[in-house]
Amino acid sequence: MFTPAELLEINTLLVPENKIVILTHYNPDGDAIGSSLGLKHYLKAKGIHAEVIVPNDFPKFLKWMPEAKKIFIAEYKRKMASDLIHEADVIFCLDFNSPSRIGLLGDWLTHARGKKILIDHHQQPEAFDFVYSDTVIPATCQMIYHFIEAMGDEKLVDKDVAECLYTGIMTDTGGFRFRSTSATTHRIVANLIEKGADPAVITSNTWDTNTVSRLHLLALILGRIQVARDGKVAILYLTREELKEYGFQKGDTEGFVNYGLSIIGVKMAAFFMEDLYDDFIKISFRSKDDMDVNQFSRKYFSGGGHINAAGGKSNESLPETIETFKSRIEGEENL
Ligand code: 5GP
Ligand code: MN
Repeated sequence: MFTPAELLEINTLLVPENKIVILTHYNPDGDAIGSSLGLKHYLKAKGIHAEVIVPNDFPKFLKWMPEAKKIFIAEYKRKMASDLIHEADVIFCLDFNSPSRIGLLGDWLTHARGKKILIDHHQQPEAFDFVYSDTVIPATCQMIYHFIEAMGDEKLVDKDVAECLYTGIMTDTGGFRFRSTSATTHRIVANLIEKGADPAVITSNTWDTNTVSRLHLLALILGRIQVARDGKVAILYLTREELKEYGFQKGDTEGFVNYGLSIIGVKMAAFFMEDLYDDFIKISFRSKDDMDVNQFSRKYFSGGGHINAAGGKSNESLPETIETFKSRIEGEENL
């Protein structure tokens, strides 16, 4: 948590006269959108207006969240997003650890004059004016709750705040399953339910959103899932042609990589996907126990993230990327 002195200083910044923006990472997920909107609604309950800005669009299954439609998507509203960031007195940076993770917002953030407040749970954060980083907490949404508590404002958690924070905790813990899900996480979730978050409604809005084409895409990749390194590594992939053929929509492949990790004996899963427009491969890594995919991805695939969930990219072709990956895992000690 921020130190008491930092909290006092942050408190003096959070006043209606100040312009406040909230930024989150490229390809925003449930935790990114949930923490940003959760913070926005908390500030609103405090009488303070804030704008949420994201680098690019986010999946339809997150657009039911209160005020999700008011988020500025910089790729569509470049000038407005840039002006808001440059004019801001306070810039909250949520669920990312480096300006390199926020696409076109990165340069604007670096040159902005506002005070930069980081709240994030990814490994190896860079410097910001105020840093609340905790890599053991499973979701930035949980950290927003701790921040609200530290500000002495738990009473301001209303239904809107609760729904947003619940969503991010639910998605980043894979439905309260992943390793850093703690008793504290569950206590906070219980509070959020009491404040109005409805688990059945939120789960249904977020996860019962399959389209037939998404399930066909899933069937395709599950039909050819491979294992390597004596059954300890699962490999999944999708080509651009296939994405086009199945009418790919943003978010359609969310969670696919987890099927790899569910295979008995598998300690690491990698999902390789050709980008729909640009010439690169987007990679998702997931792992168990001490197989550190943050380090692995930083070392070999210009990426990063968490110990057990990370992303990366490659400029080689899809078959070359998979071959390179197979040779890299040969030398991995933690497999
Ligand atoms: P995903 O596989 O769901 O895209 O990402 C898994 C985790 O790794 C997320 O927490 C995400 O923020 C992080 N991540 C994804 N891609 C990158 C990347 O290229 N660089 C870094 N540093 N983190 C990434
Ligand atoms: Mn997160």
